[in-house]
Amino acid sequence: MPLTSQNALEARAGLDTETLAMMLETIRDFVRDAIPDERLLQLDHDDECPADLVRAMCSDQLGIQLLFIPEEYGGMGGSTMDVYRVCQEMAGLDLGIATSVLATFLGSDPIFFGATPEQKTQWLTEMAERGVLYAYGATEPEAGSDLGALKTTATPVLTDGSVSGYRLNGRKQWISNGGIADKYTILASAPGGPSWFVLDRGTEGFTQNRPEDKHGIRLSNTAALFLDNVFVPVGNLVGDVEGQGLIQAQKVFGYTRVMVATFGLGAGWSALDRAITYSTTRIQGGAPLSEKQGYTHKLIVPHAVRLEAARAFIEFVATRIDAGEGADGALNTEGAIAKYLATEAGNLAADAAIQAHGGYGYTREYLVEKIKRDVRITTIYEGTSEIMEMTIARDRWQQHLKTAGRYYLDSAAGLRALDARHPDVGAGTAAVACEALAGVLEACRAGRLTRNQHVLLRLGELIAAAEGAGCFAARAAAALDGDLPEKADHRFDGTALAAMSRVFARDAALKVACDGLRWVTGPAGPQAAGSTPLLSSLRLDAACAAQEGLIADMDRVADALYGRSGASSA
Ligand SMILES: Cc1cc2nc3c(=O)[nH]c(=O)nc-3n(C[C@H](O)[C@H](O)[C@H](O)COP(=O)(O)OP(=O)(O)OC[C@H]3O[C@@H](n4cnc5c(N)ncnc54)[C@H](O)[C@@H]3O)c2cc1C
Repeated sequence: MPLTSQNALEARAGLDTETLAMMLETIRDFVRDAIPDERLLQLDHDDECPADLVRAMCSDQLGIQLLFIPEEYGGMGGSTMDVYRVCQEMAGLDLGIATSVLATFLGSDPIFFGATPEQKTQWLTEMAERGVLYAYGATEPEAGSDLGALKTTATPVLTDGSVSGYRLNGRKQWISNGGIADKYTILASAPGGPSWFVLDRGTEGFTQNRPEDKHGIRLSNTAALFLDNVFVPVGNLVGDVEGQGLIQAQKVFGYTRVMVATFGLGAGWSALDRAITYSTTRIQGGAPLSEKQGYTHKLIVPHAVRLEAARAFIEFVATRIDAGEGADGALNTEGAIAKYLATEAGNLAADAAIQAHGGYGYTREYLVEKIKRDVRITTIYEGTSEIMEMTIARDRWQQHLKTAGRYYLDSAAGLRALDARHPDVGAGTAAVACEALAGVLEACRAGRLTRNQHVLLRLGELIAAAEGAGCFAARAAAALDGDLPEKADHRFDGTALAAMSRVFARDAALKVACDGLRWVTGPAGPQAAGSTPLLSSLRLDAACAAQEGLIADMDRVADALYGRSGASSA
């Protein structure tokens, strides 16, 4: 079923596989032709957004905006899987340009999810036909993670006793496309509560600051917006009802966070692939670095494993959204896990890619230095990693309480069933991670430890690791069974994914057990766990036993990454 506005987050099939493949190739060729590496470096150096290119990409020249727009408004009605593949591709080319393109989609999000049918016809059709660039204006100087603290106001203007419009006053901060957009969706506090308004560039009293001088994504325009008694007609109140703004923003986090997750994935792989290529030709100690186990198993393999674990989660959430599960924020926690895993993995991978290039990595020419600066933003925008940890931990904590501690024990049982069918995908070790997690959560409940915010957020990290391991094992099993969706990424075969999954699951099980021990005993000593036998509930023995075979599996992953058949040498 194609994406339509009525079923905004309901079942969707999107593009056919050939059209998607063609779109990916066209984007790659278009961006590489327009901005070869030297120009990319120059624009980064000059801190310049190639606005004409962004416009060309979001208009009929390339038509990326059509992917995001339902067919009934003249778009192509792309599915979440389509958007994931396209966003990953763009992020691999340049994260600044990818940010500009995605920002225009984020800017139209409040319309997509909150506007009346007439408003959608007006604004989405215009976007499809004319490639109008949008910006998404939520953040303020004093309202970032906590949007409820917003200060921008929308004061009704009365004409003949009825509301004819609003006067907007306030300031927006860090707005992508802020200086180049044609239209802006602005979150402001109306008498009925936070509400979205569509504002045209050039409206009297509405000005944009100069672009921010940023650490990375210097090819994207980020600017503050000033709203000084700006009049917007009543018809520009999204959805015609005040007070829906935060609800509308919340509704789509499952979706939008998956998109930013793909940015971490695309940029992380772009850096790592450069390191992989470099290491095959760089000779040190008499052989290419790619043959040095101490190099590959520190700087390449763990990062490939983490990125692929994150991909498994992204595809898992995308598939569920496309099956119609994401309505009304139902997959917000899963979206947060995807974002957290992928953006943290991408950031670490890019850092390792600099190290893998040695001194060359520290210079600009090899681009990994730029990618590292670029990818850093993905752990900040669209919800910081700490906010992701909080979102994940709060929800799963509730699940643990509601099920009287069964939530992760049930997940473990499911993974043990998978392990019985597929003993080679790390599902048994992922089950150990889930059992340990159930033990940690129960100890936290008994000791009332989540009163410490730090403990709560660390639980978010452990939950992401355990759920990531389970999801990766399932993806590896699907790949071995030939059951991966057609639109899934097929870079690695089932055998390679199984080895990667085993490496990730070992890490997750040990992490949950060791970090869990730390965060349970840290606040109040071993007695914090109450009467629970702490060490056995953390499955420390099982997590240690599962480590056997780790180096051999890392060898297998290295072989898969370098396309060779034997084990790597010391
Ligand atoms: C380049 C760039 C582009 C952006 N594009 C857009 C855009 O297009 N539209 C838009 O609306 N916004 C945009 N943003 C804003 C972005 O989403 C926010 O910067 C982000 O949500 C964090 O908000 P903040 O900067 O106010 O940080 P804060 O919320 O002040 O956070 C500061 C630190 O405190 C932590 N923290 C915050 N709250 C808590 C808490 N309760 N408990 C524990 N720790 C906490 C955070 O994790 C972070 O580490 C952009 C930002 C940047 C830098």
